Amino acid sequence: MDTKEFREQAHKMVDWMADYLENIEQYPVKSGVKPREIYDQIEMLPPSEAQAMEQIFGDFEEKIIPGITHWQHPNFHAYFPGNNSYPSVLAEMLTSTIGAQCMIWDTSPAAAELEEKMMEWLRHLLGLPANWTGVIQDSASSATLASILTAREKYSEGDINTKGFEGYTNFRIYCSEETHSSIDKAVKIAGIGINNLVKIGTDAEMAMQPELLREAIKQDIEKGYKPLCVVATLGTTGTTAIDPLEAIAGICREHGVWLHIDAAYAGTALALEEYRWMIKGIEHADSFVFNPHKWMFTNFDCSAYYVKDKQALLNTFEILPEYLRTKVDQQVNNYRDWGIPLGRRFRALKLWFVMRSYGVSGIRSRLREHLTITKQLASKMTEHPAFELLAPVNFNMLCFRHKPEGMPEEELDTHNEELLQLLNNSGKVYMTHTRIKGNYALRMAIGQTYVQQKHIDNAWELIQKTAFSLKTV
Ligand SMILES: *Cc1c(COP(=O)(O)O)cnc(C)c1O
Repeated sequence: MDTKEFREQAHKMVDWMADYLENIEQYPVKSGVKPREIYDQIEMLPPSEAQAMEQIFGDFEEKIIPGITHWQHPNFHAYFPGNNSYPSVLAEMLTSTIGAQCMIWDTSPAAAELEEKMMEWLRHLLGLPANWTGVIQDSASSATLASILTAREKYSEGDINTKGFEGYTNFRIYCSEETHSSIDKAVKIAGIGINNLVKIGTDAEMAMQPELLREAIKQDIEKGYKPLCVVATLGTTGTTAIDPLEAIAGICREHGVWLHIDAAYAGTALALEEYRWMIKGIEHADSFVFNPHKWMFTNFDCSAYYVKDKQALLNTFEILPEYLRTKVDQQVNNYRDWGIPLGRRFRALKLWFVMRSYGVSGIRSRLREHLTITKQLASKMTEHPAFELLAPVNFNMLCFRHKPEGMPEEELDTHNEELLQLLNNSGKVYMTHTRIKGNYALRMAIGQTYVQQKHIDNAWELIQKTAFSLKTV
């Protein structure tokens, strides 16, 4: 392909992109293909001869699109959203065109310096402590792993990186029963051992009970363990529960325990003053992560990781082979030393585009709209005699079930499982489920970039109609 053809194709594809996003509601939200259906349509081997872009693109539309679940559909309510937005997509086009490898300052100074500035913008937007330092990671999972590794190295003063675990076989890490699976994963990879991850019980609102944490730490110390790290969650994945940070931070401080805050989803809400109470006590924590790639209109991947002690992070990850040495190492941020991979994409550009194109007020008003339409639907469900909310509505997510009059408790799970299946098969909405204190709940996140009142009105109609159509005897 030459530049002339690239130009023609790119123009056509930009038109396709605009059409796709404009008409996205015509697609079924969740792909309905069967396992192997896509795989079996793709040739066994790469073509030996060049193929025309028309042909390749034709196959994209015909064979790939049917197997896509449309995350940018306004009625995508599953998991948590993975938002993009027009300005973010434009920035990603430029990023991939430039194709820079942004591992060190030298390999693209603008990428490193824009990243530094964007992390300051976000820190300000969320009201994080002014003396904390941020870096973009690919995902919250990587950020949490980086945090646990840093806690480990800070405590052992680099011993484990140097000599291995000898003499350090008694670490304990704590999180609530509702914590995201990425904490389990990080504990395994960090060599702590999953049996040393202590899951602390939660209260009626699914938030960690600090008294139970205090007790667990006390007992572990008596048994000779070293409590290394606590992970507190603001906005758990199951129900968006909020762990009581201030109390947890107090306990960590008392025992010299590292505190990591996982706000992967709900951290974005800190852009709103009315949510700042969640981070009271953060000055006693050590690290914080949130994902602009979830609820801040920025394409995956873009995870913002903040640390109080920047040097501890660098000490954990720093490498300096001769071929990566440069003359400016002392004056600049070489982000290869701030996380696990060496290679890095230029991810700050999309944040810059998004924050400038929306403006802070634009971001805030979009978030408030999401929160308002969620609250309205929550009231409708509460008032409805046959629907029930199963968790507090802290942000823009509802956990609910249909509870027809007279249906025995033991039939409710199956009934609601069937309801979810029918809703998702309709192609009009996509939701997922969770279990709350043993009960099956539908889980509806209302945070897609362009979701509006009308989409939620339609979804609520559909939920009621579908629920009533199910046999209840
Ligand atoms: C989504 C989520 C994660 C994982 O995020 P990734 O960026 O996909 O690794 C971790 N913790 C919480 C609370 C989440 O909601």
